[in-house]
This record gives sequence, C-alpha cells and structure tokens, in this order.
Amino acid sequence: LMEGRLWTESMFAQELVLKQRTEILDALCSSGSAEHLERVLDILLAQGELVWEDYLNVQVLPEVQQSGLTLSGCSLTVGQKEEAQNTPSQTLLARRPNFVNKLQGCIDGALEALVASGHFSSGDCKEVQLPVHTPSQQARRLLDHVRSKGESAATVLLRFIQQTQECESPLNQETLTPPKEALKYQKKLISSVSAHSFFLSTYGGTSHMSLDDIYTEGELELAQHCPNMQGPLGLEDIVGTTGTVNEDADTVLISGEAGSGKSTLLQRLHLLWAQRAAFHDFLFLFPFSCRKLNAEQRELSVQELLFQHCCWPDRQQEEIFQFIVDHPHLILFTFDGLDELKQSFSDEHRLCCPTQQAPVHILLFNLIQGSLMKGVWKVVTSRPEAVGPLLKKHLRKEVLLKGFSPSAVDCFVRKHHSDPTVAAKVLQSLQANTALLGLCHNPVLCWIVSRCHTELLGCGEGSLLTMTDVYLMILQNFLQHQSAPKSTVGLGWIQEHLKTVLHLGQLAFEGLGATCYIFSSTDLETCGVTEKDICMGFLIQTKDMLSTQSKHYEFLHVTIQCFFAALYIILSSDTQRSTIPKLFEMQGVSETCLCCSFFRACLTHDDPQGCVEAEEARAVEIPNLQITAMFVCGLLSQRHHHLWHHCCPSATIQKRVNQVSRCLSKGMQKHFQSIPQPVEGEKKSMHAMPGFIWLIKCIYEMQEGKIAKDAVSKLEVDHLKLTYCNIGPVECTALAFVLQHLRSPVGLELDNNSVGDVGVEQLLPCMHICNSLYLRNNNITDEGISRLITKAIQCDNFRKIALFNNKLTDACTQHFSLLLKTKQNFLALRLGNNNITAEGARQLAEGLKVNRSLQHLGLWGNRIGDAGAVALASALEHSKSLLWFSLVGNGVGNAGACALANIIKNSTSLEELWLTENCITKTGVEYLIQALEYNTHMKSIWLRNNELSLEEVEEIKKRDPRLIF
Ligand code: ADP
Repeated sequence: LMEGRLWTESMFAQELVLKQRTEILDALCSSGSAEHLERVLDILLAQGELVWEDYLNVQVLPEVQQSGLTLSGCSLTVGQKEEAQNTPSQTLLARRPNFVNKLQGCIDGALEALVASGHFSSGDCKEVQLPVHTPSQQARRLLDHVRSKGESAATVLLRFIQQTQECESPLNQETLTPPKEALKYQKKLISSVSAHSFFLSTYGGTSHMSLDDIYTEGELELAQHCPNMQGPLGLEDIVGTTGTVNEDADTVLISGEAGSGKSTLLQRLHLLWAQRAAFHDFLFLFPFSCRKLNAEQRELSVQELLFQHCCWPDRQQEEIFQFIVDHPHLILFTFDGLDELKQSFSDEHRLCCPTQQAPVHILLFNLIQGSLMKGVWKVVTSRPEAVGPLLKKHLRKEVLLKGFSPSAVDCFVRKHHSDPTVAAKVLQSLQANTALLGLCHNPVLCWIVSRCHTELLGCGEGSLLTMTDVYLMILQNFLQHQSAPKSTVGLGWIQEHLKTVLHLGQLAFEGLGATCYIFSSTDLETCGVTEKDICMGFLIQTKDMLSTQSKHYEFLHVTIQCFFAALYIILSSDTQRSTIPKLFEMQGVSETCLCCSFFRACLTHDDPQGCVEAEEARAVEIPNLQITAMFVCGLLSQRHHHLWHHCCPSATIQKRVNQVSRCLSKGMQKHFQSIPQPVEGEKKSMHAMPGFIWLIKCIYEMQEGKIAKDAVSKLEVDHLKLTYCNIGPVECTALAFVLQHLRSPVGLELDNNSVGDVGVEQLLPCMHICNSLYLRNNNITDEGISRLITKAIQCDNFRKIALFNNKLTDACTQHFSLLLKTKQNFLALRLGNNNITAEGARQLAEGLKVNRSLQHLGLWGNRIGDAGAVALASALEHSKSLLWFSLVGNGVGNAGACALANIIKNSTSLEELWLTENCITKTGVEYLIQALEYNTHMKSIWLRNNELSLEEVEEIKKRDPRLIF
C-alpha cells in the first residue's frame, strides 16, 4: 500500500512539473545566471535523482538564458537512489552542494593540489578558471573534472577540502596573500579614492571643506524591521550581516530623499576605506557615479568599466582582473544615484561574462542582480521613488537614510562654523524658528541655512518658513556675494541678475527634461550660460569626466537644479501655458510615458535626440518634477511677488498663480473622490495615496491660508490614515498648516513615520481638530510629549492618544498625569513599549485618581513591576469609566495581582484586564478569582505566559471561564 502511495505521489509530482514547466523554467533561468539551475542540479545529483550521464547532457552554459535550456536529455530516475556512497567520487557527488560552496573561495589552492599530485594539467586548470565562469561555476567545473579523472583525483580533492577546513576560514583575508601586482594596484586605487573623497564634494570650488571636518552622522534605519537589532545602525552595518533579508543577493540599497546625504555617506564610506579606518575586509573598492556613467556612450566589459572609470592598473591588467574575478568577496562596488541613471532598472538583458562588452547600464543592472560578478558586494544609493519591485527582488537589504536628528543639526552647525559665537547665533535662530529647524532635518537644507548665516541672522524671526524661502536665501547669498557690489541703483536683486537666473533656469529646466545632470560647454552655450553666470557658484565643474577633454558642469545639488527650473517656469516668457498644469498632473503617476510627455509638451527647444532621450526617461523623474512643482508654488506665493517686479509682468505672474491654485484644488479633489464610502457602523476613513503629502507640501509653500482652506473644505472624513508615508518634521509643518482648516475633527494616524520631537511641535497648530492622535513608532521623547500635552490640554476635541514604541520614560508621565487631571473627557491613553517604570506609574496614578473619563489604558511592554501595579490599582480601584486595561509584559507578580484584584472587586466598569506575560503564580491568580466572585460585568482576564504549571492552568480554567490562557 505504501509503495503504491509513493508511486502515486511521484506521478503526481511529475505531472505537476510538466504542468508548471513554463513557470519552473522561468524560475530557473530568470535570474539571468545559470546559478539557480546549477544549484538544483547539484541537489539532484547529490540525492541520486539524476545520474551522471544525464547531468552531462544538460547543457549549462554561461549563456543559458539566451540559448534556452535542453532538459530533454534529463531523465529523472525517481526512486533510483544510489546505494551507500563510499568511494571518494561518490562522497564528492553526495555532498556536491556543500562542496561547491566550500571550494568557491579556494579554487586556486585546490587546483595547485591537483596539479602537484599529477592529476590536473595546466589545460585542465584553464578550463576550470575560464573568466566566463562565476566562482561557483568554477567550483562545479572543478568537481566535474575531478570526477572524470577517477578516484585518486577525488581523494586528493577531499584531502584538500579537509585540510582547508582544518586551517579554518580559507576566505579569511588574513590567510590570503594577494599577489604583488594586486597590492600595487590597491595602493593606486586607495590614493585615487582618497583624493576624490577627501573634500566634501558639493562644496566643489566654493570652499575646501574636508569631509573629516564636516561629516556628521545621519540617521540610518533598516527598511525592514529587524527584531534582533541593537542600538543605532552604523556605517559599517551597511555591509554587515544586520538586517539581511536575502542571503543570495549581494546588493545593498541606501535610499533617501534628495539632499538626505546619500552621496556624502558613500563618500564617507570611500574615505574610511581609503584611510584604512574601516571596511578592512575589502581589498579593492570601486566607486561609481551613475550621473557620470550616463555620459558613457561606449559598450564596455566589466574589466573596462573598473579600470577605465576608476583606476588603471599600470601593469598586468589581466592578472589583476583575474584576481578580482577569483576573489569577489574581497571587492566592493558603490554606485551613487541609481535614480539619476537614464535607464530604469530592468533584468531583461542578461550577461554573465565579465569580459563581454555591453552598454554600461546593462553592465550595472547585471552587477546589481549578481548575474555578473556574483559575490562582489555592491552598495547602491537611490531616491526611494526610483526603486521598484523588480530591483527590490535583488536586494540583500535596504537601509533608509533619514537625514539629521536635532542633535546632528547642532553638531553640523558647530562643525561648519569655526567661530563658536556664529555657530551659537545660528543655532539660536534655528531654535526660535522650528519650521526652519524642521527643514534642517534634511542635510542639504541644513547646509544652505548654515552657509547663509548672515542672511539668516539678518532675517526677522520666523520669516524663513518654507523650502523656497531657504533656496531664495541661497540665491540671494550667491548672487550678491560673488558678484561686484550693486552697480545699478534701485534694481531688485533678482532683476539685477535676471539674465543669469534665466540662463541657468533654462539649463536646469531642459536638463530635467532630458534626465541630464551634467552639462557640456555646448549645453551651456545653447542656454546662453556665460562665464560670469558660472562664476556665481551654482554650477560646479564635474571632476573626472574621462570621456572628453572639455569641461563639464553640474548644479551644486539636484534640488538647486529643480529650483532654477522653477524660476525659469515662472519668469521665462517662453514657458508654454500648459507647463504648470502638466507639472501638477504628474502627481502619483508612475508611468514613464506621462512623464516624458510633460517634457515633450513643455520643452521649447525640442530636438530629435532630446526626444529619444525623453522616451527613455522614467518615473524616476517624478521626484524632481515634484520638487520643481513645490518651488513653483513657493515662488508664486504672495509673499514673494515683490521679487518679480520688473522681471515679469504682474499679470503673467497672477495668471500663473491662478493656474497653480486651480491645480492644487483639483489635485486635492481627486484624492477626496477616491475615498470609499464607509461600511455601515465604521468611520469614514481616508488612507493617503501617493502624492497626497506632496500636494500638502505644495500648499504649504504657497503660505496662503485661503488656498489651504479651500483645499480641505470638501474633505469630510472621520479618520486620516498617513502611516508609512515618510513623514518627518517638514511634512508635519505642512500637514498642520493645511489640516488646521478642517471643518470637523478627525483622528490623525501617523504611525510608523519619523515625526520626532520637532515634528510633534510642528503638529501643534492642528491639534484642535484632532480627536485622536496615533503616533506609534515615531522616535518621540519626553521632550516632545511635554510640548504636545501643554497644547493638548487646551484642545477640547482631543480625546485619545497612542504612543506605542517611542522613547518615553518616567519623565513624561507627569504630563499625562496633568492631562488626566485637567481633561475630564479624555478617553484613551496608550503608552506601550516605552520605558516607563514604577515611578512613572506612580505619577500616572496621581492623574488617574482624579480622572472620571478614561476608558482605555495601555501600558504593555513597560517595566512598572509590582510597585507600579499597586499604585495604578489603588488609583483605579473605584473607576466608573475604565473598560480596558493592559499591563502585559510588565514584570507584575503576586503583589500586583493582589492589588489589581481590588479593581475587579470595586470598579463598576472594567471589562478586560490584560496580564499576559507577567510573573504571577497560582497565589496571585487566587486573588483574581476571589475578586471575580463579586463581579458580573468583567468579561476577561488574560493570563497567558505567567508562572503557572499546565495542571494549574487546567484547574484554574475550570473555576472561571473568564480567566483566559
Ligand atoms: P543626496 O545624495 O542624498 O542628494 P548629498 O549627499 O549630495 O545628498 O548631500 C547634500 C549636501 O548636504 C552635501 O553637499 C552636504 O553639504 C550636506 N550633507 C549631506 N550629508 C552630510 C553629512 N553626513 N555630513 C555633513 N554634511 C552633509
């Protein structure tokens, strides 16, 4: 019977394989390398499911994906497992998957042993080490060859594997002595990387600030929550094991908004490597900039890419490259700004041969996927929008770069100004203007603000509010400080430099249209950019453009390019009427075609080549368009109209203002129309769609209450869900600016963002329309709470707050206590997973004693212990409002249980008590059971994972079904 069943099962499996043949083939080949297929073959061979002759018939060539697979010769001899494998060849076969892994790092040694023992010729070695083979393929070819040479060769190999195992870690760099030439090349590479990373790159020619002097740690976070993670993520964790989600992949992505410091972080990584201060595991580091790779027109091989774009070996290029191919784990590639590459990521064209030439983007995509140079670590940076699911599949992990924390802002400003009094003044004015402090969360804005300290200090408090304000400040700073003193009396500063602004504006605008961030002298000439314009400092010369002799330029930062594009849109007489509406239609769009059509429609200097390039432009441009649109809003704000006098007819400006207002209002309507009708009995809820936060920020840039009011006048929801929207302090400022005009109160759900204390402060203006505020997992400390509660106490509508998983301690509980004392309509307080102890519980108890309204109290995952439980219980003993109370995971023992029993005895309202994961024993539970005898309204007491034996649990369950385990 058993046999029959096995037979049916295997038949069924075969049928399944046949049925899903296409999917299986796809899965085996879609990675672009033969690796998946070969790994499956290893397993089949090892398990005896595939006989050797059939294995030889299966064609696994490097070009497998192009030639197609010939699986026809493969007969799966189900049930024909080999007898006990006892010859050396059989051992090699049976443990093939394992040996393939082991041999990868020590092919050279194994070959040496086989040559020395006379089993292998140099021809054999060459065949094994063909450059088209990945290290794992080399290992397989080695095993195949050994098998063909007979048992004695197999014995030699087995002995070699055993020996290397005994000497431990053949992959360890310390045991590996690279050839002399490789070490010389390393020296040259180090000095080149060091030279390129020594000065902070964006300061370009403007100021020579060494990276060591100015570098300030930004906040790094894993994109996927990692439960074992301890402490903050450091630079070295990028290439460490922490947070790995896909062991097979070797690409790490660092994602962050424009200006969040991605390039600077890579630069830091390069410098630390070059100084031999960190990243010691890597013998070679090859840095690439996607911006520069855009200019590479030729087809290159990986070898040419490395040597021509990074560092040229003076001698023995072939040997050095072979060394690189043979030791992938000692190599690190970095690619900065994947979002700036003209082509979007695709895994259609596959390559696995490092000597084969291909267009650079194809090389890059194959490197990222690991079909080329498997095992080499690659660190790639990009803006988040440019990373689609296709790319995510190939990531080992994703690290988010969140920008500067408030203390990093402080540290940056102090480093930036050698004069401590200036630094103190700058910091003082930032403290006085928290909207501006919020903007400084983004390092590029922090740099601008700090750079323009004279203007900053000259400004009245609070006059710099928006991103546009900050960029106007740098515009003024550069225009006025780098040109001769005012020549024409009576002209506004923009008017005086209008030509420069328009030339640079056109260059920026057309550049964005063609995904172009590096400009040739011809590009500059076409837009009329003169030497004088260049001297203003917005353009810096691109270092290292290898392709040509002529000079190339780029904007100080991509956001500055967007700013100039926006200036051009509002000031140029060439701008078409449709430009602004088209710019705003882009919201939430991720299809390439629409994006290109924007530029096709708007570019006045269209040329056929530009068109072809625009066709290739992608969704990646949307972030740039969105930033540009935000600047357009900001520049058209009433506050800045005086700047455009004599630069552009006021009627034109007004027309553009009207256009923008209409677009914003239309954009918001679209969002509201998509809100589904609520299910009966549920609240009407809106979940932010892509583009919602951006629209809010655009409205904020306008700084006009009326526009904000109009925008939300038709929004009728009970609950606004903005979870995982990358909301930081700047977004909070904008949200509060708009939402304060809502007509009826809402629940505002901001869980899983980066609100922080600065963001909390920014939310205060809209607190009066919040009936509940959810700020779970947002990096908030006691300081933020102190400000929040001071305001919340005055807001009648405010009834619920959830602060699960923040950084709260006993220092915040006095504020909640005051809130509970003052607000007799407050309903829910959830403080789970913070760091509150018995002392904090005592303070809360002070408030709870007086409060008559609280229904939900959640303290899960704190450390209040017995003493805390006793204090809370005594405060809540006679509560007539509390319905739900959680002390899960708080180290509560029998004394706590005894005190809590009093609430059960006396409270007329409590329905649910959560005591899961504490240390209550049978004695403690007895108190609860006794108390329940007096209580008929209590529904459940949760007691799972306390200190009770199975028998005790069984017995207790019988005594009262309301005790739940
Ligand atoms: P991104 O690549 O994310 O657009 P950049 O790395 O170019 O951002 O940063 C823009 C500017 O912000 C830099 O030129 C520098 O002035 C400043 N900056 C960014 N990160 C840091 C940092 N960690 N320390 C000091 N300054 C920084």
